[in-house]
Amino acid sequence: MGLGEQKQGFCVGLVVVVVCFAVFAAFWVPFVRNDDDDDDDNTTYTKPVDTYVSRMSASKVMGHLQDLQNIASDNNDTRAVATSGYKASVDYIVSQLKSGNANCDPKTQSFEIADWQSLETPVFAQVDPAIDFSSDLYMQILTYSGSGDITASLGVLPADNMGCTQGAWSGVDVKNKIALVIRGECDFHEKATAAFGAGALGVLIYNDGTSEERMGPFAGTLGELQPGPVFSLSHSVGNQISNSPNQFLMQADTQTTVSETWNVICEWKDGEEENTIVVGSHLDSVPAGPGINDNGSGSSMNLELAIQLANSPVEVKNRVIFAWWGAEEIGLKGSDYFVQNAKANGDLSDIQLNLNFDMIGSPNARLEIYQGTAVLDPLIKPGCVAIQSIFEQYFDIADIEFTTVDKLNGAKSDYAPFTTNGIPAGGLSTGNADIKDADERTIFGGYANAAYDPCYHMDCDNVDNIDQDAVQANSQAAAYTLGTLASSPQLSSLLNFDSTKRDQIRKDTTKRVFASI
Ligand SMILES: [Zn+2]
Repeated sequence: MGLGEQKQGFCVGLVVVVVCFAVFAAFWVPFVRNDDDDDDDNTTYTKPVDTYVSRMSASKVMGHLQDLQNIASDNNDTRAVATSGYKASVDYIVSQLKSGNANCDPKTQSFEIADWQSLETPVFAQVDPAIDFSSDLYMQILTYSGSGDITASLGVLPADNMGCTQGAWSGVDVKNKIALVIRGECDFHEKATAAFGAGALGVLIYNDGTSEERMGPFAGTLGELQPGPVFSLSHSVGNQISNSPNQFLMQADTQTTVSETWNVICEWKDGEEENTIVVGSHLDSVPAGPGINDNGSGSSMNLELAIQLANSPVEVKNRVIFAWWGAEEIGLKGSDYFVQNAKANGDLSDIQLNLNFDMIGSPNARLEIYQGTAVLDPLIKPGCVAIQSIFEQYFDIADIEFTTVDKLNGAKSDYAPFTTNGIPAGGLSTGNADIKDADERTIFGGYANAAYDPCYHMDCDNVDNIDQDAVQANSQAAAYTLGTLASSPQLSSLLNFDSTKRDQIRKDTTKRVFASI
């Protein structure tokens, strides 16, 4: 995995930092020093982190997981958004932060979410001669489609026009018609907004046929409620109707219920605000189960990181914000709200990095570090590489095997609102419903040809669905990394930022990640 090469690169970027981490690592011996040892030049910086690491343990994290399990058991076996189990989880985190003397005044950050349902089977058909395309072989309704009962002819963009802006429709007669546009380049929300803005009554997005997986109709989210029906079509149906002068019928009956939910925020009282580190994990489960690995595990570890940071000698030079995100499972809503809110308040440029912990105790675990070296965005890549390197240092020092995973280019968890807004990120995970292979079994143990988490998003994701060794390793790796970053005297050098360029790009960007592409 190019480990040596990455570390070399990391050190080269650190010439201005007092201690290069490769050297530092050679002097750092985990778990053997204590607070009362005499100082010397190499240990004054590392000892508090050492103490922080040693205070993290699987048994402490398991205590919180049992409490979250009890909360789920008392609330219909779920902790999903818009349930009493989620509200009880929020109250639990707040009370534990207080009783554990975390150095913050824990707050809930309220935001609205829209619960969307399609009430009737959607209809798409050619009117005369009648051809019914209302089969999931040909079409699907997209999440947050509006309602409507429309009979109209098509307004069609040529296949090389991706329809990402309203201007893309200039010269195309789409007013009071059904817009037909190909998939790709921008998210479904942008395509629908552009077409409705140009006067369309309904929108059809057909697959682009660029690979075998992109032939059929597709599921996806529009991020927020649209003013009319929006369906995906297969590549062949899109092509077939693109020159049709006929009238088409679109029928959709959807319902959107708006409700309130919360993030829990613990802003450390120490540390420079302009060097803020956000440590996040989503607190909501899916409706199907108690969500103990996904993501009680990351949330409980995050809680213990906050409590033990308060009880450790780590000097927090860079402010830490611990966050427990709501509504991750319905589209990263809580972390997106936090980032957009910080942007609106002018606080986004204070945030230097995000650490994300989502599923850190999978029962058939492999130990995954988010791969900064694979990041495509050159703005955030150096920071992501640096964060990856610190996690790797811990696993190397502790002599624990790990692997790296290319997640940061996607939007699979709550790092995405940060990375898409110019903030580097890193994190740990242990695998979901994907399958462990024989080589990984040799390295990590467990079962080959079985899922890392066979209870992923199921009712059996309970307190027995946890590998405590993985929790132990990840809890200490997280403390090492957070302790190192929080106490770093030169965080921006460590992350290799060009802050002027970054702030400019952040100012210009209005990116959201809530819709699919
Ligand atoms: Zn998750």
